[in-house]
Amino acid sequence: MKNPERLKIVIAGGGTAGWMTAAALGKLMSHRLSIRLIESDQIGTVGVGESTIPTMQVFHRLLGIDERTFMRQTNATFKLGIRFEGWKEIGSEYFHSFGTAGKDTWAAEFQHFWLRAKKLGIADAFGSYSIELQAAAAKRFAAEFEPRLNYAYHLDATAYAKYLREMAEKNGVIRTEGKIKHIKLDEHSGHIRSLILESGEEVGGDLFVDCTGFRALLMEGALHTGYEDWSHWLPCNGAVAVQTESVEDPVPFTRAIAHSFGWQWRIPLQHRVGNGLVFCSDYCSAEEAKGVLLNNIKGAPLSEPRLISFKTGKRRKSWNKNCVAIGLSSGFLEPLESTSIHLISSAILRLIRLIPIKEISEEDVNEFNRQMDVEMAEVRDFIILHYKVNNRGDSNFWNYCRQMEVPEKLHHRLAMYEQSARIFRAPEELFTINSWNQVMLGQGITPREYHPIADITSEADLREYFDKMRRYINEVVSRLPTHADYLKSYCNSGVMQ
Ligand SMILES: Cc1cc2nc3c(=O)[nH]c(=O)nc-3n(C[C@H](O)[C@H](O)[C@H](O)COP(=O)(O)OP(=O)(O)OC[C@H]3O[C@@H](n4cnc5c(N)ncnc54)[C@H](O)[C@@H]3O)c2cc1C
Repeated sequence: MKNPERLKIVIAGGGTAGWMTAAALGKLMSHRLSIRLIESDQIGTVGVGESTIPTMQVFHRLLGIDERTFMRQTNATFKLGIRFEGWKEIGSEYFHSFGTAGKDTWAAEFQHFWLRAKKLGIADAFGSYSIELQAAAAKRFAAEFEPRLNYAYHLDATAYAKYLREMAEKNGVIRTEGKIKHIKLDEHSGHIRSLILESGEEVGGDLFVDCTGFRALLMEGALHTGYEDWSHWLPCNGAVAVQTESVEDPVPFTRAIAHSFGWQWRIPLQHRVGNGLVFCSDYCSAEEAKGVLLNNIKGAPLSEPRLISFKTGKRRKSWNKNCVAIGLSSGFLEPLESTSIHLISSAILRLIRLIPIKEISEEDVNEFNRQMDVEMAEVRDFIILHYKVNNRGDSNFWNYCRQMEVPEKLHHRLAMYEQSARIFRAPEELFTINSWNQVMLGQGITPREYHPIADITSEADLREYFDKMRRYINEVVSRLPTHADYLKSYCNSGVMQ
């Protein structure tokens, strides 16, 4: 590739990853790039990524997406967090909300004051001091509201890809329907020269984006990049998914319900509910998982249960030669914290920042891969935490998770928190101190000590502070409409009565 006038980008695959990439590059870079996307209707998409995290709002702002239009077209609902049911032990429940609990001080975070107040019998549960968490529990929500809530979406994955496709095509992205049969490499450099379609058409390019999902046709099929297997830490390797009719108002949170060999998701949309059971095949068969899922859904199934197999881990390089893997082709952690679509958007933004100017620079490629590695490892550790810290003795699956060795950095984080409620976080990390607090406490860690700065406040002042905060949060939540009413007035796709 030598100083091309317009860099030719070929995106292979048109699932969520392919169309997010096409929409973003089309919107922000079409003056510099010519973009072509190849997808095969015959093969189809994985179609299950329907729960997101708040960073999606940033991605949408960059693309100039209007929230109401996007929500109507994708039958979306709002999400304030995830309710974890049965994770610490059978019958237990906690929220990981997108909110912030209490207020930090310069010396110590809120959890230290809360721990002292709890010891004195002054404070309620940690989550009582987060507006988003209390709003989720009360099934209330409003987007246009003061104070502003931190939220994400549940969306119909197929409709989302369609919505982005329209946008991308308006911005000049050319779509080709066809099956990629063969990938031609340059004999000398080993770079991808072109994709040969079943029709015989040959599509050449300067930079190829592999969005072919788990197949990773370009990254693995052609370039043999290799895969780092993380299944010893994240042992689930299959999911059965089924859509059901809505039989109740959509709640503003995803449900993650633990079972003896994995967990079940429930994602409420305006027109239906997405359900799935994530399991580890060492502890249960796909048939058994399907049976458990079908016994634990509400509403009539709208589709045949579908089995999806995966291996948790990541591609050894996310950018290799002239190919960048985005989406499932770059790796998969598992859907517990709904991070995959976020990882797609952050890879796209990283690609835009490091887009080749004259030719592909080894420095840019290394930087891209370094940042991806750090990001994936941090998200991975946060997900492992949910499995590792459990009190469930009901199955070999949970016993394995409790006893497994975890990555060194996570081990260190857990030890620090157990000892003194201290949490460290690098500025670019995705999960906040609030997230770590909610999940560590929710999974059952009780720190032995708190920071001595929390003793500075008198007991009376501490009581007043916690009482006031509780009253304020109750007052805010009572002003919110129900999530269902708000959806009807804000972005009803036409299906909500
Ligand atoms: C069980 C499960 C649950 C999940 N839940 C969530 C969630 O709640 N939140 C979240 O953020 N993420 C979730 N994810 C991840 C999310 O589904 C994916 O990150 C997202 O859908 C992107 O997928 P993709 O576009 O990479 O792949 P796919 O959707 O598989 O798309 C692959 C594309 O490549 C095309 N293709 C493949 N081979 C060829 C070929 N030979 N020729 C032409 N085209 C080809 C296909 O036609 C398709 O268009 C989940 C994933 C799984 C497995």
